[in-house]
Amino acid sequence: MTVRPTRSHLAAAVALSVLAALAVVGSPVTAGPSPTALAVVGSPATAGPSPTALAVVGSPATAGPSPTALAVVGGPAAHGPSARAASLPLAGMVVGIDPGHNGRNYSDPGYIDQPIWNGREQEACDTTGTETDGGYTEAQFNFNVASYLAGDLRAEGATVVLTRTSNSGVGPCVTARSQIIDRAHANVAIDIHADGGPPDGRGFAILEPVADGPNDRVIGASKAFGRMLLERYHDLTGMPVSDYDGTDGISDRDNLAGLNLTTVPKVLIECGNMRNSTDAALLTRPSFQRLAARAFAQAITSYLHA
Ligand SMILES: [Zn+2]
Repeated sequence: MTVRPTRSHLAAAVALSVLAALAVVGSPVTAGPSPTALAVVGSPATAGPSPTALAVVGSPATAGPSPTALAVVGGPAAHGPSARAASLPLAGMVVGIDPGHNGRNYSDPGYIDQPIWNGREQEACDTTGTETDGGYTEAQFNFNVASYLAGDLRAEGATVVLTRTSNSGVGPCVTARSQIIDRAHANVAIDIHADGGPPDGRGFAILEPVADGPNDRVIGASKAFGRMLLERYHDLTGMPVSDYDGTDGISDRDNLAGLNLTTVPKVLIECGNMRNSTDAALLTRPSFQRLAARAFAQAITSYLHA
């Protein structure tokens, strides 16, 4: 079936292209020293990436940029990022984050219901996602965790590519989400979701790709990342593995565009069951969401350093 692009579809596609471009602007890889990199030139090599460390730059205590640092400021891009930026654990790495669904998907069924080709069969462009019995939406949860994760990863020096940058829009389709991350040549990527399972079922599951052509070369790497993610998420958050989805927390899935079409190592995590009251109480808690993001960041860092 041919899908005629709608005006909103095209507008969304254009907006996404811009967002994707913006997402990589400022990366040390593509644009030389970013304002952030310049700001930290001359700071102590041991300082962390906190605002406090940034505030130290140029203060009397550090005596300002040294002659060596001045030679780097404004110098040709070939000089690359500062030694300190390069020393961050994820310097030079690109990480894709796909926060599932979007906060206003419900408002445009004509857009999100359109059929797309997921690599094996047709599925809907997107869905609204689930929500807790109290009305806390999965789209909000996914976006919150993604935002915390993006902050954690950037603090470690990574370039982050997000498939959406707000929770107040529609889409993009799952195919476009996969393409954004593929085209960014992410070193690793994560699709963040929470499930709408049976009310008496608990726990998280990691959904992993099944070889289908486009993703053939990243199956092993995705599974390796999935193992690290399972361990870190379980250890840090205490969320049990799912008692109704997959086996020991792992579920191979061949019916999702995000996994079928990926050309970079990627898994999808269902962080818990929003329809279960115990899981829902955890998932809706900001402290839990921050912890989930921290677990993801640790798994990503472990994977990229393995
Ligand atoms: Zn979902």
